[in-house]
Amino acid sequence: MCEEQQNVDVNFYRLLDYVSKETVQPQDFVFTGEETPWEIQMNLEWVKRKLNLNYFKMAAPCLSKYLPFMPIQNISKFISLTELATPLSKSNVLGKQLGFDLSFKIEAKNPTGSFKDRGSAVEISVAKELGAKAVILASTGNMAASCACYAAAAKIPCFVLVPEGVPLAKLAQVIAFGGHIIEVKGHYNDAAELAKKIAKNKGLYLAGDYAYRVEGQKTAAFEMIDQLLFQAPDFVVVPIGCGTNLAAYWKGFYEYYQLGLIEKIPKLVGVQAQGASAVVNSYKKELRTITALERVDTVASAIAVANPIDGVKALDAIYTTGGFAVAVSDQEILQAQYFLSTKESLFVESASAATVAALLKTAKKGVYANKKVVCVLSGDGLKDSNVVLQETGKLLSMQPGETDFMMFDDHFFSANHRRFL
Ligand SMILES: *Cc1c(COP(=O)(O)O)cnc(C)c1O
Repeated sequence: MCEEQQNVDVNFYRLLDYVSKETVQPQDFVFTGEETPWEIQMNLEWVKRKLNLNYFKMAAPCLSKYLPFMPIQNISKFISLTELATPLSKSNVLGKQLGFDLSFKIEAKNPTGSFKDRGSAVEISVAKELGAKAVILASTGNMAASCACYAAAAKIPCFVLVPEGVPLAKLAQVIAFGGHIIEVKGHYNDAAELAKKIAKNKGLYLAGDYAYRVEGQKTAAFEMIDQLLFQAPDFVVVPIGCGTNLAAYWKGFYEYYQLGLIEKIPKLVGVQAQGASAVVNSYKKELRTITALERVDTVASAIAVANPIDGVKALDAIYTTGGFAVAVSDQEILQAQYFLSTKESLFVESASAATVAALLKTAKKGVYANKKVVCVLSGDGLKDSNVVLQETGKLLSMQPGETDFMMFDDHFFSANHRRFL
């Protein structure tokens, strides 16, 4: 009886090559392909047997609710920080202005301030389960902050390779959580190649935008559907760096669809910065392959990726759902960021504001008329406050006297403000 049970559990998921669909069996802790990415295929029959769907539908959304959908052997050992569902919040201003039903999925409200935490919970749990002595990863910042945090919770050392120019607040998070940072003189993809080599040679667990991470990040899709009471939106707008998160949304929606929890899969809209638009370039040419860029140039550091490892998955998701990919300029990103903070009271990092910039840019064509749209706000504005501070310049300063304050009157206050003084 007991043995039978175990046999079922061993086959509850498969690791395969995303393109050839052949099963892969790595001997080390490196769960990524060489040329094409790998993926995890959950045995959805097995998942279904684990769930009481009526009960599942009523349960409050949160990360641990979705454990039966994750490739975790021993769920009692899952590395959890008691994550709550992130808010799905109706737009107060922009939706009305554009004339459609718009909500924001505020992924900044994860434990370390970005959606990466969903994936890190799974990756670090798997690393721990497999007995890895340490994890290593390359990151543009948020992945590093997140993995360092979860590695601390799992009591595993965490080594982080960052390219030059990573925002200081993100590095501060890594240091605070006891992660070890090494700066690599080059771009993100240089750091990623190096991390992979070191992981293989030293027997460390390679964390990052690889197969296991998707299984955590797909929970954002589950959560969104739960919050919408199992009514799928028409469009979901997602920023693309490596493409892993957009691919994860697709997988989450697909698994819910397969289980009959939703009746349709939303159209996925992928957004890149014009200075880092490898996926958009392929989309425009109707290709299913990615050509790496020689260099990247954008304020949105979290999506400054020259060679998106999951770009192929992202393209497939966009084509399959009938969505599209669009690039926005740094100026459009900064305007959207300012709009979000001043009009919607949401301070997000520039990479996240890219989705709103894309919405503003594409709404004119009427694609969203009478549709329900969810815009993913992937990370917290405090993580990259420099983008804002650089715009502001020097602070005004004065002696602590009321007359000094009045000196700023003309400079500072509109007629409207003055009425209250
Ligand atoms: C990582 C990240 C992205 C890009 O996600 P990918 O999975 O690399 O496509 C976007 N925004 C923020 C805030 C991020 O941290």
